[in-house]
Amino acid sequence: MINKQIVIIGAGVTGASVARELSRRQLDVLVLERASDVCEGTSKANSGIVHSGYDAKPGTLKAKLNVEGSRMMAELSRDLDFHFKNNGSLVLCFDEADRGALNDLLSRAETNGVEGVRILEADELRKLEPNISDEVVAALYAPTGGIVDPFMLTVALAENAAVNGVEFSLDTEVMSVSKDEKGYLIEAVKHPSITNKLESDENIRIHADIVINAAGVYADTFHNMVSADKIHITPRKGEYCLLDKKVGGYVSATLFQLPTAKGKGVLVTPTVHGNLLVGPTAEDTEDHDATDTSAEGLAKVVEVGSRSVKALPSRGNIITSFAGLRAHEDGGDFIIGEVSDAPGFIDVAGIESPGLSAAPAIGVYVAGIVDGICPSEKKTDFIATRQGITSMALSDIETRQRKISENPLYAKVICRCELVTEGEIVDAINRPLGATTLDGVKRRVRAGMGRCQAGFCTPKQVAILARELGVDISEITKKGCGSGLLTGYPKDETKGGEAHE
Ligand SMILES: Cc1cc2nc3c(=O)[nH]c(=O)nc-3n(C[C@H](O)[C@H](O)[C@H](O)COP(=O)(O)OP(=O)(O)OC[C@H]3O[C@@H](n4cnc5c(N)ncnc54)[C@H](O)[C@@H]3O)c2cc1C
Repeated sequence: MINKQIVIIGAGVTGASVARELSRRQLDVLVLERASDVCEGTSKANSGIVHSGYDAKPGTLKAKLNVEGSRMMAELSRDLDFHFKNNGSLVLCFDEADRGALNDLLSRAETNGVEGVRILEADELRKLEPNISDEVVAALYAPTGGIVDPFMLTVALAENAAVNGVEFSLDTEVMSVSKDEKGYLIEAVKHPSITNKLESDENIRIHADIVINAAGVYADTFHNMVSADKIHITPRKGEYCLLDKKVGGYVSATLFQLPTAKGKGVLVTPTVHGNLLVGPTAEDTEDHDATDTSAEGLAKVVEVGSRSVKALPSRGNIITSFAGLRAHEDGGDFIIGEVSDAPGFIDVAGIESPGLSAAPAIGVYVAGIVDGICPSEKKTDFIATRQGITSMALSDIETRQRKISENPLYAKVICRCELVTEGEIVDAINRPLGATTLDGVKRRVRAGMGRCQAGFCTPKQVAILARELGVDISEITKKGCGSGLLTGYPKDETKGGEAHE
């Protein structure tokens, strides 16, 4: 039996943010994540928008934590070195009859305390966004809106938590949680993986004084294991099209349409890395892993997104599509707090949009709840900052020359679309909580994120991963267990060695 003061279930942006806040304290914290990396759930598949906070219903936790989280994001991005840009957002109104709805959003913004929000008329709007649709009559402008790299935000929070002493157990799936006299018994399965170094599944039992339930679309399952007061999460699927960087400058702000009952509707936005993103749809499903995309869903994304701009440059420019699942709880608000009939069990459930924006504030809020249950000393040696991986493509000439003179691998370009070097990939693998999969490398340094979507660089990346991790290339996967890339060797070749690179 493993004994821990605090166990966090889930290493999405919520679990990672909570882990980082708890790592400021003298506490023994373990994060259990069923995937082979952090940021493998909803946190990897969303719009990447830092909402300013005009949309959430006043008085809700969503509204409070959205506004607080978005105010924290710029400083956090400097401290933890991830990409964030304050590009502003517009909610477009296509019909004079809808001005009332736009004004309602303006009053919500004022009630929620969002700074600088105002209505822009057609002339001013077109100066700001020349490619906006001719149909638009006015828009709500939120200058504090931003865009963020959701992977790097989550990875940065988790890495910083790990550096400050939080333990992460990846490929570890929680099967059950039950109350006992002194806390909670967690039964989990460790799956075979590069980090776990196991031949087959291993059952483990952990005792925790406090459990933090940050399991995304599965958070209702764990809540309902310990409480008589049930909750229910409906996964709400959102599909996207990601467009090539050559059309990334088509808009500069994030363009929303007026929200619907199911959410903020289809947006058109630049990403922090210069692509153009269009989506998402909103379809309820009971399948908690349904992250497939469909021809109909993607056609709808293009059709609805096309309304916002003059001519959506989608033809020939869609480089990939993806889908994410919002964790929609029936009550519609975030559920964050100690469960009334399960002392020491803290829900961080129903974290649908704006969960990414709110994440920094959610971490602080949950740590405050933990302080109330189990007061602890603050660490005097907490490391508040983190240095990200230097991007050679984005560095100035002096930095590039210095890096190359220190290590020639920074001169060897592996991903030709995003100009990612072998030196950066090696850094991504060898950091705390480093990458062990192709997707892990992709999310840390963008190798394979470009127009060819890893068509050219996959074999080279596999060879680098195998070499750095000291395993055979056949063990390298796309995203962990069940996503193997190689099925076997040609008859006349022996395993391993340069021949496979
Ligand atoms: C289509 C879409 C668009 C969105 N756009 C935005 C946006 O622009 N801005 C914004 O602020 N928010 C947005 N969101 C919301 C945001 O993405 C989420 O609120 C946030 O990512 C939730 O993070 P999480 O950590 O709670 O969940 P997740 O990222 O899903 O993390 C939960 C983790 O728990 C793990 N887990 C589950 N079961 C187990 C188990 N049995 N054992 C161990 N681990 C387990 C999962 O593997 C996962 O890693 C969007 C969401 C979607 C779906």
